Amino acid sequence: RAKSLGRNGFQFFDEELRDEIQTRARLGSELRGAIAGNGLTLHFQPLYSMPGNRLSACEALVRWHHPTQGMIPPDQFVGLAEENGLIHDLGEWVLRTACNEAADWPAQVKVAVNVSPIQLRNPRFIRIVEEALAQSGLPPERLEIEITENIFVQNSATNREILQKLGRIGCSIVLDDFGTGYSSLGYLRSFQFQKIKIDRSFVQELPERGAAGIIRAIISLAQSMDIPITAEGVETQDQWAHLNDLGCNQVQGFLLGRPQPADMIRQAILTHA
Ligand code: C2E
Ligand code: MG
Ligand code: MG
Ligand code: MG
Repeated sequence: RAKSLGRNGFQFFDEELRDEIQTRARLGSELRGAIAGNGLTLHFQPLYSMPGNRLSACEALVRWHHPTQGMIPPDQFVGLAEENGLIHDLGEWVLRTACNEAADWPAQVKVAVNVSPIQLRNPRFIRIVEEALAQSGLPPERLEIEITENIFVQNSATNREILQKLGRIGCSIVLDDFGTGYSSLGYLRSFQFQKIKIDRSFVQELPERGAAGIIRAIISLAQSMDIPITAEGVETQDQWAHLNDLGCNQVQGFLLGRPQPADMIRQAILTHA
């Protein structure tokens, strides 16, 4: 390392970059193996209706059970899968597994699945969703597809078309992480979402006035468009009470339940649905 700094200041960065590229390549091929084998697992986090406080849906959140690194959270491999194309196989596995699991739940409990913009652009995507529904027997009305507003940054005509097709199948389209993306609000007019999820960065600042103001504005915007609102990242009783006062329709967060393995969520559903 000392040598690398001496003769050529760039060499250190070269090595670091090379290591980084090698690590990502290795992680990529390990991920391919995990998708093909049974290295992936889904956790489910409950969503509760408000008022009423019933468990009305569960969000499927993918985890990678790595042989040496333990449980790896999605933020550390979904981006990689988007870069190297594995997101298609990963996403298909998630959809199938989530639908199979949810098919055994009571009929009033929905399942929410996160879908990357890259998956949406796959011409086979609609077919993949239809097959996951058909093979599991899950009614389309019980599948919620969560997308982020980032997909509206470009090419809105194609996106709108895909979302409309999903709607025609009977699935709900949910706008996730609302308020954090870069796009304008114009797309809210061109597509009717069945639900908007307020990003947890706003929720976690409650009861701070700025955050409360933004949440109030989002809820009133959504109400004027007849779109139910979910708040994610609810961790305290105080946040829950504020969201209740503001007229929020559904809540999700560690206060109500953490993401948990399928057999544990089945227990929660039995007692709270
Ligand atoms: P997301 O869709 O916004 O999911 C919610 C994330 O917030 C989850 O993190 C969840 O564990 C976390 N969370 C929920 N309640 C709380 C809370 O009260 N406090 C805090 N601090 N965090 C909370 P997770 O499971 O690590 O997932 C992160 C992101 O990875 C997800 O954000 C989603 O964008 C993406 N993701 C997860 N599973 C999939 C998948 O199957 N496919 C795709 N394309 N993306 C996925
Ligand atoms: Mg989500
Ligand atoms: Mg979210
Ligand atoms: Mg998020």
